[in-house]
Amino acid sequence: MARFPRSFLPLAALATGSLLATPLARAQHAPAPRPLDARLGLARDPGIAALLRDISPAQIRATDSTLVTFGTRHTMSDTTSSTRGIGAARRWLFAKLSAYGAACGGCLKVEYDPAMVEVSRHPQKPTVNVVNVLAWLPGRDTTRVVVITGHYDSCICAVDPFDVTSDAPGADDDGSGTSAVVELARVFSKRYPKGLSHSVLFALVAGEEQGLLGSRHLAERLHQQGYTVLGDMSDDLDGNVSADNGRTDSTTMRIYSGDPDNSPSRELARYAAALGRTYTPSFNILSVFRIDRIGRGTDHEPFVFLGDPGIRTTERMEALDRQHRPADTFEHVNFAYTANIARVNAAVLATLASAPPPPDSVRARRVAPYGQSWNITWNPAPGAASYEVLVRSTTSPTWERVIPVGNGTSYELDEQLDDLWAGVRSVGADGHRSLAVTVPQPRPIRPPSAAAAMRR
Ligand SMILES: [Zn+2]
Repeated sequence: MARFPRSFLPLAALATGSLLATPLARAQHAPAPRPLDARLGLARDPGIAALLRDISPAQIRATDSTLVTFGTRHTMSDTTSSTRGIGAARRWLFAKLSAYGAACGGCLKVEYDPAMVEVSRHPQKPTVNVVNVLAWLPGRDTTRVVVITGHYDSCICAVDPFDVTSDAPGADDDGSGTSAVVELARVFSKRYPKGLSHSVLFALVAGEEQGLLGSRHLAERLHQQGYTVLGDMSDDLDGNVSADNGRTDSTTMRIYSGDPDNSPSRELARYAAALGRTYTPSFNILSVFRIDRIGRGTDHEPFVFLGDPGIRTTERMEALDRQHRPADTFEHVNFAYTANIARVNAAVLATLASAPPPPDSVRARRVAPYGQSWNITWNPAPGAASYEVLVRSTTSPTWERVIPVGNGTSYELDEQLDDLWAGVRSVGADGHRSLAVTVPQPRPIRPPSAAAAMRR
């Protein structure tokens, strides 16, 4: 960008105050970009830092220790006993979340979210009442919601997928994630009894082990009811630190996000990794650019297939010799480690729920008639004080430069966008940033069944 050397400015400009006008007017056109570090220019909020300190490994441990006492939490297990089976487990979770709601003056809205769902993996394909337990922390704008799920059902699927009576402790899968989500509901309700800008939904889902039945129902319900899902995280397998081959890692978590590279999910993964670096810099994040582990999945997928940003946040080391077996017991869960994953979750939930929504209808067009530069436009986002344009090369895993562009809704990028990704994000008055919306826009991705149908 051309800048006037200071000595060339007319003296009259000094007298009239127009000294600043010329460089600033140009600056709106092409301000100097700033290189980004791993925090991607996200603000550190002392209130959120305090929220993260509230997260207690002992609380997570206490919740998980109760969950395993229900013997089995198989989705098709007994629902009438007060001490054993998934019915007893969900009534206990409902009561626990309701107690947090009572303690914050009713700030949490706790509900059962039932759905009659066919279990197509079962030989007889029975229809089962799959019941999620939801705790809502309503925002000032209740049409937008940030979601976190843990699945409270368990199984010994490696032995018999439909053994509904034997013990299936599921202490790690997914007692750990469920207990983390319960703890997040506790600390958010305590710290934010009046809610944030947008709603936060703490969702304990069932039917995961039979094919993501509860989370699919929840994702579809939220869309049918007109909610905008700002982001979804699945906490599944969050407490194991030692693998069967002897490798251990208690200082790294994994974040899975699906293709394409400009998808909303990948953007949420970048955001989560940047917030992790901002708030918990000594806890490492291994970003995996894949929707989930090979041939396996969990509860973020139904959200992703409806176009929402969705990621899996999970342990670095899995114990495949214990998963889905009676050996998935309490003593193998490292609750300090689970708490660290929950802190990254908390930073994402609180920041996304505090930030303005991302700008809508972001478009990029070549500047006519033959220009190498591109005009990027967007619709204003409610609550946005300003916007930033982000730029990265197509081979860079994350954003490389940020350009503050003021409070307008267009920007001329003097670059060959053919060779780059660009993104636009909203900035709130308090400095919280939304997810970036990338241009060119991603094509919607299809669930595997539709993709398979395309190949036929
Ligand atoms: Zn699981």
